Amino acid sequence: MKAAVYTEKGVLEIKDVPKPQVHPGQLLVRVTYCGICGTDLHNYSYGIPSQGAILGHEWCGIVEAIGDCVEEFSVGDRVMYYKHAGFDVAGSEVRTRNLRPNPRAIYSAPGRMGAFAEYFAVNTSQAERIPDNVSDKAAASLEPLVAGVHAVRLGKLKPSDTVAFIGTGPIALYMIERVKQIGVKAVYAAEICPVRAAKAKELGVEKVFDPEKEDFISEIVERTGGRGPDVVYECAAGGHTLNQACTLVANNGRIVCLAVYQGPVTIEPLDWYMRQPEIKFTTNGDSLPADWETSLKLIQTRAIDVEEIISHVITLEEIQDTFLSLLDPRRNTMLRVLAQP
Ligand SMILES: [Zn+2]
Repeated sequence: MKAAVYTEKGVLEIKDVPKPQVHPGQLLVRVTYCGICGTDLHNYSYGIPSQGAILGHEWCGIVEAIGDCVEEFSVGDRVMYYKHAGFDVAGSEVRTRNLRPNPRAIYSAPGRMGAFAEYFAVNTSQAERIPDNVSDKAAASLEPLVAGVHAVRLGKLKPSDTVAFIGTGPIALYMIERVKQIGVKAVYAAEICPVRAAKAKELGVEKVFDPEKEDFISEIVERTGGRGPDVVYECAAGGHTLNQACTLVANNGRIVCLAVYQGPVTIEPLDWYMRQPEIKFTTNGDSLPADWETSLKLIQTRAIDVEEIISHVITLEEIQDTFLSLLDPRRNTMLRVLAQP
């Protein structure tokens, strides 16, 4: 089968590789779409995956074959990524948690096989049938929506809050939609990439600043009556963006970092520690069953139109150039991108 194989730092090559074997408890899925996630881009550009790995986790597809002991799925089912692992039906956590999870170890695990490929084998604990009223493109966007819904929840928003986003990539755009839906006093953002800034504006952000041309911290502080925003969502993962979030936030405000820092970052606490911000680092690994249920419901009721953020569908052959474009925010013209193997 054809797959985009990670061969070295910053390189994905299209190769012919063996179709994955289906082990007991697994499904072999013919991939319909797989979204490009910020995590894929960061792992790729920082050289985290092991050689020969296949990236891609925001997938949907058709069940091609089922392994032994699989009763709940049939060949031909439309399926998507859905995290069941570790929870019983009542939503209580039952898995023995990795006490000190380390992303370097997780993402560099040898033989990691994702869905930037024609076929993909997955444990049934990470798959769900796609409801009839959910399109394939929307199904491939459930995981990033969950990441956003979960991160917004951690901001503990109140109607009187003002909110700022640093970075408005695809997940942050979903978060902006969610925040607007919950209802807050005002939303501001800082974004380098012009098309992403324009989309954020279209989704109702009061003012989107260009952090390379404008002093967005002073501007937002001024627009919030000198207080700064109550909640800052740090979605950029730049070398200085965590410090900017801490400098920007109001006294006793909350910062939620849904940002995958893969290199050292600079912080200057003297500028902000007396404002005593609450800083929460999070990933989708911490999402709860309710976040998945809520997000699927938002898609089904079209309360959030996840397809609206999808700007490009590419072939596997275009994936290397697409990764390079997405990593160049000033020139990038894409929002969310799906690969169609
Ligand atoms: Zn993702």
